Amino acid sequence: MTLMTGKEYIESLRERDPLTIYLMGQKIENPIEHPIIRASINSIVLTYDLAHKPEYRDIMTAKSILTGNTINRFCHLHTSTEDLQNKVKMLRLLGQSCGTCFQRCVGMDALNAVYLTTYEIDKQHGTQYYQRFVDYIKMAEEKDWVIDGCMTDPKGDRSKRPSEQKDPDVFVHIKERRDDGVIIRGAKAHQTGAINSHEHLIMPTLAMRDHDRDFTICCAVPADVDGITYYYGRQSCDLRRLDETIEGDIDCGNAVYGGQECLVIFEDVFVPNERIFMNGENEFCGRLVESFSAYHRQSYGGCKVGVGDVLIGAAATIAEYNGVLKASHIRDKITEMTHLNETLYSCGIACSAAGQETPAGNYLVDQLLANICKQNVTRFPYEIARLLQDIAGGLFVTLPSSKELSNPESKKIIEKYLVGAEGIDTVDRIKILRLIENLTLGRAAVGYLTESMHGAGSPQAQRIMINRLSNIEEKKKLAKSLAGIED
Ligand code: SF4
Ligand code: FE
Repeated sequence: MTLMTGKEYIESLRERDPLTIYLMGQKIENPIEHPIIRASINSIVLTYDLAHKPEYRDIMTAKSILTGNTINRFCHLHTSTEDLQNKVKMLRLLGQSCGTCFQRCVGMDALNAVYLTTYEIDKQHGTQYYQRFVDYIKMAEEKDWVIDGCMTDPKGDRSKRPSEQKDPDVFVHIKERRDDGVIIRGAKAHQTGAINSHEHLIMPTLAMRDHDRDFTICCAVPADVDGITYYYGRQSCDLRRLDETIEGDIDCGNAVYGGQECLVIFEDVFVPNERIFMNGENEFCGRLVESFSAYHRQSYGGCKVGVGDVLIGAAATIAEYNGVLKASHIRDKITEMTHLNETLYSCGIACSAAGQETPAGNYLVDQLLANICKQNVTRFPYEIARLLQDIAGGLFVTLPSSKELSNPESKKIIEKYLVGAEGIDTVDRIKILRLIENLTLGRAAVGYLTESMHGAGSPQAQRIMINRLSNIEEKKKLAKSLAGIED
């Protein structure tokens, strides 16, 4: 089954045991058919279906270094800098295709980070994690899994270490050790695509110290294992997906695709030994967290750029519909949007091209450049969105409901007064304005703006890494040498 289709992916979700999911106060029995959840599933479906299109084969698939099979790139260990660049291109393509978060990248980034870390732990401690994890990846490749890279704990009181928290459950930890495995407890917050995943690959969220040893756990559990509860994250304008009319679909802005974030609770979940990939080796938490973060910060130089392309397209379309596309200030704003967007892409490609082989044999991006990439992502999408709102005019937030279009009287009035450039269908004008609302204020704005700020680490996390990796001492030597200063 190495390359599933989107349809087979949805079938594979149906084959899971029922999950315990709460969404807006209700227990959801059939997540796959729920309109809000279904939109997020549709985004992931693209990661399967595009892999079957001949024109995208090169970037959507890869050759496994473990088996030689052709696999979906989302399950792939990167084996060259070209592989890393293809990953960025793949994420841009998907961002362009769905205009939102397609959720599957976190697992790919976690696979690569855990792979290189288990190798290094085994070298130092003589443990058996690496081979276990290789077996796990082979399974992921073969079954073409969506894996939730499960890192961010709720963290409680940020001034305290995990072991100092009043309630230790604010960090995932080992509650009990058994001969055949461990029992874990706690939660992970902001989990992208958690309900749409086959597996959770749990990782520690920060560097741990000696007394935090019970919190140093990296392991995998199936999404339908006993003891997990999912609380679905509400997002702006999500009720519009429950409108059951075509007109209501217009108000969604992007009726087909959506993202997904959940709070995931692990209440005494058993993990057998063969699914444990780190257990108490505190000194490797930093390596795991930093390499995962670097991969995921690289990812944003692809996915957000793809969504940025949609914003730029929306800007040009509404300018044309408003009859102002030729105005020089509009063209200049669109040029600025493109400049910012391609700068992000340049960062994604640069940190990939400067990547290097790890001792384990996969490739890791250049960590300084990956952090620069994500730091720019915390800023540029806001400016791109601002320019789009500027070009669009205020109508995207004052539009009457599209339900008025089903009343012939009202429709006539709306078509008369919301008309744009000659020859442009007023309903098309409304549709593009609703897409702009969705991208800059609605559900997709979560993925394009807030996630750009906080996903893969908030801005300060990158600044800490940039400071650490910037080698100021070397730069001081350069300056002193030119100034004729001898140390
Ligand atoms: Fe992938 Fe981007 Fe969503 Fe992260 S935010 S899961 S990189 S699409
Ligand atoms: Fe993310």
